[in-house]
Amino acid sequence: MEGKVALVLGVANRWSIGHAIAKAFVREGAEVILTYQGDRQKQTVEELASEIKARQVLPCDVTEDAQVDALASMLANELKSRDTALNAVVHSIAFANREDLSRPFVETSRAGFALAQDVSAYSLVAVARATAPLMAAPGHDGAPGGGSIMTLTYLGSTRVVENYNVMGVAKASLEASVRYLAAGLGPSNIRVNAISAGAVKTTSARGIRDFSKMLEGGAKLAPLRRATDPVEVADTAVFLASDLGRGVTGNIIYVDAGMQIMGFALTE
Ligand code: NAD
Repeated sequence: MEGKVALVLGVANRWSIGHAIAKAFVREGAEVILTYQGDRQKQTVEELASEIKARQVLPCDVTEDAQVDALASMLANELKSRDTALNAVVHSIAFANREDLSRPFVETSRAGFALAQDVSAYSLVAVARATAPLMAAPGHDGAPGGGSIMTLTYLGSTRVVENYNVMGVAKASLEASVRYLAAGLGPSNIRVNAISAGAVKTTSARGIRDFSKMLEGGAKLAPLRRATDPVEVADTAVFLASDLGRGVTGNIIYVDAGMQIMGFALTE
């Protein structure tokens, strides 16, 4: 990823999947720009950024159109001053009310449903619209231009995972958005994909009732008989962001120790 510039949204702390991805991008030679959700996160994200040698930290709450637009114009100025373009965007953001991740799905409120969709699915569309123009146009010299946009999803989009509830529905919407965005942005050589990660212990995950049981159960059932390491999710993000992934778009890539192929298992 030498010479590439990547924007990573969704680092809250060192356990965030976005943090593992940002670290891997820097390891592979990319320049990384991080965002933080609000003032409460600013200091932590700035400390992490200096630890991993990220180039810049900018604010962005994805539920605010003005903040998404402001992020895009700050990035545009920065990229223009250095005569470069954006190559990769990682959307590693989700949110649902805690009560919607513990009570029966049928109890989901209209507001809780809309909130999960807004933060966890629509925001990818908003971020893609704001950042796609910052990627290079195809060059007269035959340079393909474009770039790579990716998001993080979970198996609960297509299978029922107890307590994942409204987030599963938001992930289904997110995955469909990946396909529509990939179709729309493909002619500009902008690829859009999702990585479906296995369960990883993060702040968001801890909001799901009985998450530790999900983690343990998955590690026993998955073909590789272990939990997912965020570093292996990050390595797949490197593949998608780099030229190695140049033929891949509109895909949901599972990095979950094989969990998604399993149906029914006989346990002792
Ligand atoms: P995390 O809590 O570390 O990250 C979630 C991020 O979303 C945080 O940085 C938070 O600030 C950000 N966010 C929430 N609302 C926001 C808003 N309005 N504006 C801007 N940012 C906002 O947890 P994580 O597990 O690293 O989650 C990252 C992504 O990975 C999510 O999409 C999650 O659904 C997905 N994922 C997680 C797992 C898992 O088991 N942890 C598995 C598969 C997919």
